[in-house]
Amino acid sequence: MDQTDPDVPAAMTSPPPHMTPDEFREHGRAVIDWIADYWERIESLPVASTVQPGDIRALLPDAAPEQPEPFENLLADLDRVVMPGVTHWQHPGWFAYFPANSSPPSVLADAVSAGLGLIGLLWSASPAVTEVESHVLDWLVDLCALPEHWKTTSVGGGVLQGSASDATHVALVAARHRVSARSGQPAEQMVAYTSAQAHSSVEKGANIAGFGHVRLIEVDEHQAMRPDALAAAIETDAAAGLVQAFVGSTVGTTGTTAVDPVRAISEIAIEHNLWHHVDAAYAGTAMICPEFRHHNDGAELVDSYVFNPHKWMMVNFDCSAFYVAEREALTEALSIDPPYLRNAQSDAGSVIDYRNWQVPLGRRFRALKLWWVLRSYGATGIRQMVRHHVAMAQELARQLNDDDRFEIVAPHPFSLVCFRCRAADETDAGAQAADRATDAIAAAVNDSGVAYLTPSKLDGRSIIRVAVGQSRTDRVQLDLLWKAISEAAV
Ligand SMILES: *Cc1c(COP(=O)(O)O)cnc(C)c1O
Repeated sequence: MDQTDPDVPAAMTSPPPHMTPDEFREHGRAVIDWIADYWERIESLPVASTVQPGDIRALLPDAAPEQPEPFENLLADLDRVVMPGVTHWQHPGWFAYFPANSSPPSVLADAVSAGLGLIGLLWSASPAVTEVESHVLDWLVDLCALPEHWKTTSVGGGVLQGSASDATHVALVAARHRVSARSGQPAEQMVAYTSAQAHSSVEKGANIAGFGHVRLIEVDEHQAMRPDALAAAIETDAAAGLVQAFVGSTVGTTGTTAVDPVRAISEIAIEHNLWHHVDAAYAGTAMICPEFRHHNDGAELVDSYVFNPHKWMMVNFDCSAFYVAEREALTEALSIDPPYLRNAQSDAGSVIDYRNWQVPLGRRFRALKLWWVLRSYGATGIRQMVRHHVAMAQELARQLNDDDRFEIVAPHPFSLVCFRCRAADETDAGAQAADRATDAIAAAVNDSGVAYLTPSKLDGRSIIRVAVGQSRTDRVQLDLLWKAISEAAV
């Protein structure tokens, strides 16, 4: 340290200069205004960013600022630097991937969470963080008619994870722990099963958790896992001396929203002592409406379940609700008690310490936004949104069905519709021409700026996924989308 520098001693002994409370109020209002203005004009913006790689970095200075800058400069650069590189997930013309809806109460709750700046690693580190989370996740059990024993007031419990991928990884770790305690076998001997249409997070989680083997089980003509193929794979692996440890089924696959037969898979899982995890990342929100709950049939038999309020429930990313049927199975796998985390309440076993339900130690106050969204919209408001999206998706499906140029390629029980151009004949050349036509429609729609959808593949053929689910989407945008599809089709 250069002691001759007159600035150093003062800087070492006083806190850095913060905004004053009044400056914070002023800039805070400007930020809220900026977000409100953005939401007001969002539909006038092209949905997808068109910048090239490196364009945004080129707008940034080479070095971090040595001297403080006025806040006005920061806001100005939101428009100058950031906005050109934004693809607008909150645009009403968003039909890509799945929705990742934000909402005003959710954004405000996240601001409060940041302002409080808590780390709820233990109950005692901020009791409200844990207790609001447990309580609101118990509410969701009732709202979505999930099994009663998944409540924290019973033997199971819910915890918010950052993503469905995290939740699935944690489920795999708990499965490994339980199976290794029972069988004495190492993870390299263990097999995790999931369908060929399951999300890649299952395979990734199994790799991270050290599973020696992952089997992607064949699907039926509706893209749902075939229980007979699962049973056959288990038999083959058992004969080879491998240990069956985990099966992941999906309610609403990413590819086409196929629904695996959860009850039939549960029966196999129970017979062979597999941990059964259900991934309902997107479709789980629909269970708030009674008419979709049959898709969860058999859930009372599974070991764990995840769905993402950050997809379709208007809680902005990140907010993934993860439930376990027996919380001890999770905490036995994940608890480590260093002396600096000991405290009377934890030692007495009278509280939940969510650090033992997840990989990280630190956790922020995510439950606040879920709580505020549920209270702001009520279950009625969320049901209304889900039904509106599903109705619009079913209308789009009818339009596609009624048009000879297109064919729908998979069942569409929720609000995702997958289609492609119909081939002129049964030949390979016919299929290839249809694939090119399908790809061309996707490119034309995405270039139009009014709508954004996802080109994909199913069984080697080109398809287009239309995920209706952005909370601002209404029939106006559906009409624009249909017009764009129709005009681009030959
Ligand atoms: C979106 C999705 C995921 C991944 O969710 P993250 O929260 O981003 O990890 C996992 N599974 C399914 C079925 C999904 O649709």
